[in-house]
Amino acid sequence: MEVLLARPRGFCAGVDRAIEIVERALARYGPPVYVRHEVVHNRHVVEDLRRRGAVFVEELDEVPEEAVVVFSAHGVPRRVQDEAAARGLTVLDATCPLVTKVHGEVRRHAREGREVVLIGHAGHPEVEGTIGQYEAEAAPGGAIHLVEDEEDAERLAPRDPQRLAYVTQTTLSVDDTRRIVAVLRRRFPAIQGPRRDDICYATQNRQDAVKRLAAACGLVLVVGSPNSSNSNRLREIAAAHGARAHLVDDASQIDPAWLEGVARVGVTAGASAPEHLVEEVVTWLRARGATRVAELEGPAESVRFSLPPALRA
Ligand code: SF4
Repeated sequence: MEVLLARPRGFCAGVDRAIEIVERALARYGPPVYVRHEVVHNRHVVEDLRRRGAVFVEELDEVPEEAVVVFSAHGVPRRVQDEAAARGLTVLDATCPLVTKVHGEVRRHAREGREVVLIGHAGHPEVEGTIGQYEAEAAPGGAIHLVEDEEDAERLAPRDPQRLAYVTQTTLSVDDTRRIVAVLRRRFPAIQGPRRDDICYATQNRQDAVKRLAAACGLVLVVGSPNSSNSNRLREIAAAHGARAHLVDDASQIDPAWLEGVARVGVTAGASAPEHLVEEVVTWLRARGATRVAELEGPAESVRFSLPPALRA
């Protein structure tokens, strides 16, 4: 049995930055440091930070006065930013700059009187944060519409199709999103939006890589947590491109029966999954007969985001 690793895989620049913000906050202010929502969607990362003194909460009313609070990489609605400021909390914003960019687009469209279509998944914290930017900025009567699939796009009934814009969640399937945008552009030719979508470089690169991996492997293992949007998309894309595909949090979740009759196993990892989990999966596969481990060709990533000024020194 042979193992092929996708390239790129695992941590993106936004996740690297978010974890570093929590680590530096713990070092600088000492525990506890409160983190609103899982800083990134990975069970192992969250458990590790919790052991070191991070306290994960879902809402700010769980954060005591004068505490230090980190906003997760997914971003927060404006009401949360305003509430933290009003309470005088020390805020360290780990929102990925590529999500912040989408927030800016939404606020601009709201100010300029457009309704906005947000292509994304209901209930995901990034979607809640992005919707909350519009709600804070829009004039009365303005609306932001969540569209999850092509059927939603076909049913959409905006107030004024001439004053309409779209944005997208950053971690969607590139191919699904392209189809949804095509429906919107056909139905509403005047719609404004990014040239293609707001899907980030890391999501795009990992999806391209998993397509190459699935073409070469009978089985693809995606390392990532079940609540990680981009990891779920990798599993779906691998399955759609002909491989049997499973999402696993770590090596302990691999079922040995999956390997039966498989000559080549592909391994990749979502943008929030640390590389040591991939290494453990490879070790597990070696223990079960993998004799060769190789990495597929793929682009190198050099994106880095700067830390908040308070943590730079
Ligand atoms: S997946 Fe993309 S948008 Fe999300 S944190 Fe990483 S770089 Fe930022």
